[in-house]
Amino acid sequence: MIVEQNINIETIRKEYPILQQKVNGRPLVYFDNAATSQKPLVVINSIKNYYNEINSNVHRGVHHLSQKATDAYEAARTAAQAFINAKSAVEINFTKGTTESINLVAHSFGNKFIKENDEIIISTLEHHSNIVPWQILCENTGAKLKIIPINDAGELDMEAFENLLTEKTKLVSVVYISNSLGTINPAKTIIEKAHSVGAKVLLDAAQAAPHTPIDVQTLDCDFLALSAHKMCGPTGFGILYGKETLLEQMLPYQAGGEMIKEVTFEKTTYNTLPFKFEAGTPDIAGGIAFKAAIDYLNEIGWDFIEQQEKELLNYGTQRLEEIDGLKIVGTAKNKASVISFLLDNHHPYDVGVILDQLGIAIRTGHHCCQPLMNRLNIEGTCRASFAFYNTKEEIDTLVDGILRAKRMLG
Ligand code: PMP
Repeated sequence: MIVEQNINIETIRKEYPILQQKVNGRPLVYFDNAATSQKPLVVINSIKNYYNEINSNVHRGVHHLSQKATDAYEAARTAAQAFINAKSAVEINFTKGTTESINLVAHSFGNKFIKENDEIIISTLEHHSNIVPWQILCENTGAKLKIIPINDAGELDMEAFENLLTEKTKLVSVVYISNSLGTINPAKTIIEKAHSVGAKVLLDAAQAAPHTPIDVQTLDCDFLALSAHKMCGPTGFGILYGKETLLEQMLPYQAGGEMIKEVTFEKTTYNTLPFKFEAGTPDIAGGIAFKAAIDYLNEIGWDFIEQQEKELLNYGTQRLEEIDGLKIVGTAKNKASVISFLLDNHHPYDVGVILDQLGIAIRTGHHCCQPLMNRLNIEGTCRASFAFYNTKEEIDTLVDGILRAKRMLG
């Protein structure tokens, strides 16, 4: 079993040219997957092939290239629909990524449905992109932002959440998997409880998409946001899933070409879904590469991805816990393959710089979660985040690197 898996990992790693390089004279160990994952050749080549063979604007031309580009781009929508099991392809809106998807909901749902004294609930675990859009909406509308607290392990306090829910709650917007701590939130329970008071739910699935299969119909979430670049796809591309009935009622987001049906100087009517939310020429190559990434992940298969990442998380946790003076931050029972840690009282940045000299890429800082760091009474953490193409040997290299950093920092 182990031998077979090793062979698979080696085969898989060969598909990533970037992983073959040396950094500072040592083989690269890439443990910054939560920031962005690496891209396999099939994804890289899909971008090259698009520009070499079918570059053309979509949805407009009658000519051969435009039709080819449109077909390839729209195939990404169908692939994304299947990837998250949406009922209809019109529920898949292409965006620049999670940040834009959340901003779209804040603007187009928020400005239509959120009024003074309404309440929006988020959690202490949120990324800034799931905090600031709601703060702006609250400033503009007079609505109130409520925060679900966490325990010291980094898990949501579900009792406190239930107490926050009232008939004033119009929206609950929470992260599915925390990028800082790896906590996997009980998304289905959150959604059920929010729905019981009539609130809508947005799931920030930026970190869920690379680690776990997503089924929006089973979850019954109203909105879901994800970014292609966290799941082996290109940067600057992602989706906003929304239930069709809700999207139909929402205001347009950006205005311009593509999102209109008819324009006169007196009145403009809007295009049907999903184009209503897709003004302007999109990132066509990005969409096509996103499909390549989805196909690739499907081919690798969730069984393999989940099993591999679970082993890396368990092994990494066990090995890091052996290091004297190392404290793991975020010890939720249900965790994805993300390990945040502190080494003695050294600044995470100093640890990160030493590891970089050894060719090991980790993330240091607040991970765009400053309110979470405030709650934990720390400035930031070192974060090692694993993908299915990482290995236990790389974790051993990390452990050696941390021991060296410990000696150097004294
Ligand atoms: N939410 C979470 C949980 C994230 O990890 C990230 C990316 N770090 C985002 C939102 C924002 O994603 P993007 O920068 O791709 O828009």
